[in-house]
Amino acid sequence: MSERIPARIIESIDPRQPIRLTPAQAGGPIHTRSFSGRFRDLRRYGAGLLFLLFFGTAWLNWGGRQAVLWDLSEHRYYIFGATFWPQDFILLSALLIICAFGLFTITVFAGRVWCGYTCPQSVWTWVFMWVEKVTEGERHQRIKLDAAPWGPAKLLRRGAKHGLWLVVSLVTALTFVGYFTPIRELVAAPFNGELDGATAFWVLFFTAATYLNAGWLREKVCVYMCPYARFQGVMFDQDTLIVSYDAGRGERRGPRKKEIDHKAEGLGDCIDCTVCVQVCPTGIDIRDGLQVDCIGCAACIDACDSIMDRMGYERGLIRYTSERELQGGRTRLLRPRLVGYAAALLLMIGAFCWALDARSLVSLDVAKDRGMFRENAAGQIENVYRLKVINKTQQPQRYHLGLAPNQPFRLSGPGDLALAAGEIVDVPVSVVLEREPLGRSAAPVYFEVINLADPSQRQEADSTFLAPSGR
Ligand code: SF4
Ligand code: SF4
Repeated sequence: MSERIPARIIESIDPRQPIRLTPAQAGGPIHTRSFSGRFRDLRRYGAGLLFLLFFGTAWLNWGGRQAVLWDLSEHRYYIFGATFWPQDFILLSALLIICAFGLFTITVFAGRVWCGYTCPQSVWTWVFMWVEKVTEGERHQRIKLDAAPWGPAKLLRRGAKHGLWLVVSLVTALTFVGYFTPIRELVAAPFNGELDGATAFWVLFFTAATYLNAGWLREKVCVYMCPYARFQGVMFDQDTLIVSYDAGRGERRGPRKKEIDHKAEGLGDCIDCTVCVQVCPTGIDIRDGLQVDCIGCAACIDACDSIMDRMGYERGLIRYTSERELQGGRTRLLRPRLVGYAAALLLMIGAFCWALDARSLVSLDVAKDRGMFRENAAGQIENVYRLKVINKTQQPQRYHLGLAPNQPFRLSGPGDLALAAGEIVDVPVSVVLEREPLGRSAAPVYFEVINLADPSQRQEADSTFLAPSGR
């Protein structure tokens, strides 16, 4: 049986009805029925946009290089003219936290809309189901094909389905890997013999992962493997919009002739056609109450609305609603918990944008030479350091390398540096104690690098200057 969160007992189910197992309960393959409706259209537009972004962005160029590329060999992430370095990983972590928090907020507001409309697992599964329909036919034809013995027709249809699934999986894998290795080179590599073993492995790995997840595992990923499905129930409250069957209106369910006054016959609006079950990608019966298996895709809403239209009944027997509304109250959209989540999310997005804007485009690291100190020809105390300067922009830059003001030291080093786009240089420098005495055996020393064209691009780093005691 499916796990429920929190299940409502439907008191008025007609005990004379035979018990029917849903596809999920029966454990067999789920063959969904075709349907149309406004939520299906919404999902298609959303999925179209996602596909365009996913498959299109990989091929975009920006400033002479791939617009979005995580270059693993160079440890850099290029995104539309900006370069991110391992030092910027804190920003990536912050972005992931913001995404997770955004997901919580959306879940409190509208349940599992992420799962039903935009989760890659769902979106790719819908594509694979469409391929299945094109190659093997409608639901009843697929069920018949399942039961039919193997022969040329079955072999041909099954072969076409799996062949197309593999093509979709391969294109998906190539695109995904293309965000980590330049996609033009990746696609050309098998033809010019330059495909290396590691890249080939990842392409095959993601091909297999897509094929298995969207082709074979499908709803099992959502029901048994996805951790989000397990904890989303605790985020729901009485006002969360969830896909629900209005049992008060639908029961007592049962078939009837369209023209009869069903209310006079003691029947509710549900004609027990089971179309809502037949379109469900996870094979459940939403009339049993909210279940963790429900991914909130609204296919059952579209299906039931079309039945209501045919019967001349009001739409919305299955609809997005809240527990409060089903119990006769009014859904409170603006409630403290949701407002708090939304405010925290906005605050986090604001802080992220500020951090992004304030991010330094030049990096300076300092490492002290292993020696303690030495005396130069003029008898001054001298310490040696290695400065690592990174031009984090995608243009050549000129920098001034020096010491922060008001220190008793003088830098002996190159002064100005010219760095190519993304170039990293290691510069050995020595620091001389100019104004003696230092008064102690160790003192902080501050280095700075300033972009000559834009002095606001400045970075500071510090180290320790050592001197003999008494100097
Ligand atoms: S589609 Fe609507 S009418 Fe048909 S069984 Fe489902 S809830 Fe009842
Ligand atoms: S019960 Fe309805 S909303 Fe939930 S997964 Fe099935 S079709 Fe989608």
